[in-house]
Amino acid sequence: MYKMMTPGPTMVAENVRKARSMETGNPDLDLDFYDYYKETCELYSELLHTKNESLILSGEGILGLEAAVASLTEPGDRVLVLDNGVFGKGFADFVEIYGGKPVLYTTDYHKAIEAEPLRAFLEKDSDFKYATVVHCDTPSGMLNDIAVICPLLKEFEILTVVDSVSGMFGNEVNVDASQIDILCGGSQKAVSAPIGLTMVTISEAAKQAMENRKTKIASFYANLMTFKDYYENKWFPYSMPISDIYGLRQALQNIKEDKDILARHARIATKTREAVVRSGLTLYAENGYSNTVTVFTIPGGVTAEQILTTLRADYGIMLAGSFDVMAGEVIRIGHMGYNCTEENMAETLDALGKTLEKLDVSLKEPLRYEM
Ligand SMILES: *Cc1c(COP(=O)(O)O)cnc(C)c1O
Repeated sequence: MYKMMTPGPTMVAENVRKARSMETGNPDLDLDFYDYYKETCELYSELLHTKNESLILSGEGILGLEAAVASLTEPGDRVLVLDNGVFGKGFADFVEIYGGKPVLYTTDYHKAIEAEPLRAFLEKDSDFKYATVVHCDTPSGMLNDIAVICPLLKEFEILTVVDSVSGMFGNEVNVDASQIDILCGGSQKAVSAPIGLTMVTISEAAKQAMENRKTKIASFYANLMTFKDYYENKWFPYSMPISDIYGLRQALQNIKEDKDILARHARIATKTREAVVRSGLTLYAENGYSNTVTVFTIPGGVTAEQILTTLRADYGIMLAGSFDVMAGEVIRIGHMGYNCTEENMAETLDALGKTLEKLDVSLKEPLRYEM
């Protein structure tokens, strides 16, 4: 195997892997599993500082984004799509699929969304049912300040849908303080469980908006209402992936016990960025740095492919390029969740530096992570 230092999926702790291999009962018929599921959802909500209900859906992170949009959007609804990255813009596709009218608020992909220009925009036009905000836009590593943006949207009575799949547990998320109506998370980023689950956290206002719909939700699998009263009725809309949920529970327990988790991400991310800048490489972002991923632009004379291939073949470390408009432009170093340790970063940056040297990229000084 190789060391996977990508911005998700991450490597997975042994206790999470073991939890996934436990013997399983029948999750539909064993009534104890309804308690186990509910308690796991409550633990997740607690870690995100809210009493809002969370649901664990059987599907990768994208399902959570689609479910939020499918469940809120009625034909003709205007939806504000905050776009300063690939995932940001991507929400517009889901809105269209479900008959909504996305209105893009597009800003510079190198910078976090600023509150004051957004406020000026909203003062002219705030007739939106909800807005979509990406916390950490992973293809560029851009972090938006949801603690400022979401309360601002709520001042204009706009519901907030936040994708923090790659932001949460590496950057602070406080659902209640930030007034997030639907928060989307995933198992494979800083949560550090394998790919396969998405978690959605839903406010009372968002539930009300779903209840008040005049039209039916145009999906079954992406319909969040199908979970209504699942606990009272002891009925899930489909069979739950019990082994994945055992793994998630252990991963969340690991997070709960890790009191230094946010401070460690901040420390390691800062030191990683400093090392990159000292070497003469250029960070993609001008501000809004996420503590889960560092993104630098490809230096002249080499391609992303050459760097990634050499690093993997000669040093056994996998980093990621990017996709969509970012394809070929940058390399992404993940330092999230279980991967976020000083030792991993020292090894990764050392190998990356040697790789660049082999490819005749001249650096200002050797790429070195200061332990
Ligand atoms: C990873 C991720 C998702 C989930 O989708 P993938 O198919 O795993 O990329 C959703 N949103 C963001 C911001 C992500 O980083």
